[in-house]
Amino acid sequence: MGCARVVRPSLPALGACFKCGLPGVARVECTKQSLCRECFCRQFEERVRKANYRYKLLRRGDVVGVGVSGGKDSTAMLYVLSKLAAEIGGITLKPVFVDEGIRGYRSEAGLSAEALCRQLGLKLNSFSFKDAFGVSLDEAVAKRGVKGLGACSYCGVLRKRLLNSACRELGCNKLAIGHTADDFCQTFLMNFLRGDAAANGKFGVFVNAGVKGFVPRIKPLAFNLEADCEVYCRCHGLPFYGCKCPYSKEAFRGLAEDFLNEADAKYPGAKFNFLSCFLSPSGKRPRRASHASCPSCGESYSGSAPACKACEVLGALGVRRL
Ligand code: SF4
Ligand code: ZN
Repeated sequence: MGCARVVRPSLPALGACFKCGLPGVARVECTKQSLCRECFCRQFEERVRKANYRYKLLRRGDVVGVGVSGGKDSTAMLYVLSKLAAEIGGITLKPVFVDEGIRGYRSEAGLSAEALCRQLGLKLNSFSFKDAFGVSLDEAVAKRGVKGLGACSYCGVLRKRLLNSACRELGCNKLAIGHTADDFCQTFLMNFLRGDAAANGKFGVFVNAGVKGFVPRIKPLAFNLEADCEVYCRCHGLPFYGCKCPYSKEAFRGLAEDFLNEADAKYPGAKFNFLSCFLSPSGKRPRRASHASCPSCGESYSGSAPACKACEVLGALGVRRL
């Protein structure tokens, strides 16, 4: 099922860098111009700085939980954040790894996350669905029956909950998530396709600030493309796990991903154009979400349903009584 693909550097040779003339390692899709390792990495990091500056993500004194999965996006994010944190000063990074319990996949990815943290001299804090909820994702999928949700729905809801409680336990005042520009575009598009355009109003680069019970979530890779995360990891020789989750075939997200990749290949820059329709350039944060305490588990939630999403899915699986 899984594959032992921990990727180590190997970069294709492209034409000369259009900025400095050195051998290119990456291409700027909109202009088809090549960039060398140094110019590419500078551009990648500048995009993270832009998100940081525009949305005021990191501050001196922050203790930031950093969600790491072992994949290329969160690997690139942790590396850039460690550079940025050293520049700003007074910032503590706490990598957080969530093991959902996906046989042949997540524990392999965890080895990459461990190797990365060792390389950066950071302690990896690990949590699992099984310990936190009494059920692994594989068990949830086996229990769901024909009317159950897709694997990614269980996974997304429970991982969000576990990352939040893990960060609270670790004393973090922020949680950094490796959502890239691709993830933003996919989510926006999926919300439209579900007929839930209003959900896009709650989505942003810095969310849940000041909402009781939630650790504010920041997304430093909002202006970076997924494909660039991989090149960035390769440029720095960072270990990452290159295989796809076995449940990813079930995901509705895959449809949005294929559409956007095709659109961007035909109309270079389409993803960034789409993104700019939703992300406020002024850095204004979205409306504060309302909150209430879930009557079943006591955690914060929107209050619009009888219980929070995590209790709802655990209730449907018979793991938790509502
Ligand atoms: Fe979870 Fe779905 Fe991602 Fe797999 S593809 S890790 S099930 S959200
Ligand atoms: Zn260059």
